Amino acid sequence: MEATFVVIGGGICGVSCAESIAFLAPEEKVVLITASSIIKAVTNVMSIGKTLTQFDVEERSSDTLSNLYPSITIINDVVKKVDTSKKTITTEKEQVIIYKKLCICTGARPKLIQDNNSRVIGLRDTESAENLTIKLKNAKKVVIVGNGGIATELVHEIKGVDVVWVIKDRHISATFIDPGAAEFFQERLLNKDLDYQEKTANRPKWTVKTEKSTQNGFGPSLGPHWHNQINLIKENVLKRVEVEYECEVLQIINRTDSTDDWPIYVELTNGKKVGADFIISATGVIPNSNILGLEHLKKGKDSGYSVDWKLETMEKDIFAAGDVCSAEWDIAKHWFQMRLWTQAHQMGRYAAKSMVSTLKEEDFYQDFCFELFTHVTKFFGYKVVLIGLYNGQKLGNSYDILLRVTQRHEYVKLILVDGKMQGAVLIGETDLEEMCENLILNQLDLSPYGEDLLNPDIDIEDYFD
Ligand SMILES: Cc1cc2nc3c(=O)[nH]c(=O)nc-3n(C[C@H](O)[C@H](O)[C@H](O)COP(=O)(O)OP(=O)(O)OC[C@H]3O[C@@H](n4cnc5c(N)ncnc54)[C@H](O)[C@@H]3O)c2cc1C
Repeated sequence: MEATFVVIGGGICGVSCAESIAFLAPEEKVVLITASSIIKAVTNVMSIGKTLTQFDVEERSSDTLSNLYPSITIINDVVKKVDTSKKTITTEKEQVIIYKKLCICTGARPKLIQDNNSRVIGLRDTESAENLTIKLKNAKKVVIVGNGGIATELVHEIKGVDVVWVIKDRHISATFIDPGAAEFFQERLLNKDLDYQEKTANRPKWTVKTEKSTQNGFGPSLGPHWHNQINLIKENVLKRVEVEYECEVLQIINRTDSTDDWPIYVELTNGKKVGADFIISATGVIPNSNILGLEHLKKGKDSGYSVDWKLETMEKDIFAAGDVCSAEWDIAKHWFQMRLWTQAHQMGRYAAKSMVSTLKEEDFYQDFCFELFTHVTKFFGYKVVLIGLYNGQKLGNSYDILLRVTQRHEYVKLILVDGKMQGAVLIGETDLEEMCENLILNQLDLSPYGEDLLNPDIDIEDYFD
């Protein structure tokens, strides 16, 4: 088989890339090779600013894409090898595809704290989420290790099972929020927020999907609202959450004799030994950058394929995007790479633009989305919007913080350097996202406004209009 463009991976990134190529160059043949028979498509994209977007992710069977775009052919297979001199790809089923431009969107896999242990669970795709649901059915206590988005959502979503949350930082959810915001979430974490408890205790249970989504056990990662697709609520009873701060797992011990209360234990660096039914490992991901024939490609520190501003690897005509790549161009001041849906979607679309433009020998500019980091998510039931250097990233210790907190309602934090906004954390329905985005992008000197910037009695948005 021969195609102008070949994309590997049926996650958000690969699908966005294939769709965008089909849109930009409908006359060119596109082959999308994916190990999974289910693909992820981005739908209902809603712009809430210049670069801020909210969207849904739909799981579809892979043939829906070729029905929508006649130039796309889908191959359900695993890519085994790429021969860069002959420009061919060989799959596990020994199919050979010749490409002109190739984009690798093979995503990443969970970094498990221990492999080959059925009581240590990682979470990545629909299948692993279903697996978790089944395991939680009879569980009384789980240990969750990790302090990023997945761990935070799991601690919130799991009901009826006691949780011990092991984090290496001084406060929860450190990847996304500061100690102040962690304090803001504390009531919900410890189940003290009574209004909220009432609202969530009787929410509907979700049924588990049984459709097999993958071959060879690796499917695309879950999409937004992933926890709604699986049942993490065992009973309408409250759970107990204990947080073990500033420690890591020293070793994992499986039950040694029948007198042990739990089937598995973790020994922590703070000297404690905690028993549980399962350990959920949510300690980050490793890019799937292990395709044969591409060993010579430069990799980033996190072992993703290193890419330049065009998302091209060091090998001409081979591009990489989404979780599998490491952004190594001259990064804009207010942007940084984080392996998230938004960036997978943006990179997939931009890789398409970049490949089509280089094929047609047309000039193009880097997409504006790489100017500013933005992320919209939900933690503990609150809308969370993160913009720019929201945690003071890249700023050392020399920045000012403007803070406005209304308990159980909103948490607004603005990061300023010399009176210019560098980042923002907006929790709750603040309606400030567009204003913050603009003020970071245009670097207006805000010193004359001082603390009035967050004065609830002044409609600051009108001010800047
Ligand atoms: C549980 C969970 C919760 C998350 N929560 C959030 C969140 O709240 N917000 C957020 O923004 N992000 C979140 N993420 C991260 C987000 O899911 C990823 O950043 C994003 O999905 C990456 O998309 P991708 O297309 O690059 O990779 P993937 O979605 O991993 O897709 C990779 C694709 O490549 C295929 N593939 C891999 N190797 C091969 C091969 N050799 N041959 C053929 N096909 C291959 C796979 O089958 C798959 O289709 C979460 C991730 C997980 C696992």
